[in-house]
Amino acid sequence: MAEFENPYATEDPFVEAHFDCLECGGKLWEYAIQRQMVCEDCRALFTTEEVFSAQAKPQAEA
Ligand SMILES: [Zn+2]
Repeated sequence: MAEFENPYATEDPFVEAHFDCLECGGKLWEYAIQRQMVCEDCRALFTTEEVFSAQAKPQAEA
């Protein structure tokens, strides 16, 4: 029997991300396996890269 370590097997694949949905401002959850984030409200799916770049930049300068 093959046995291998699956780091996701014992962990919930969803981790709370400290980012807001780009669509509705809801809470995003990071889906670690896919490197994606999903919104708990509108179910919009974003790549982590997309969210990082969107929220790292200032939206508007006053
Ligand atoms: Zn949303």
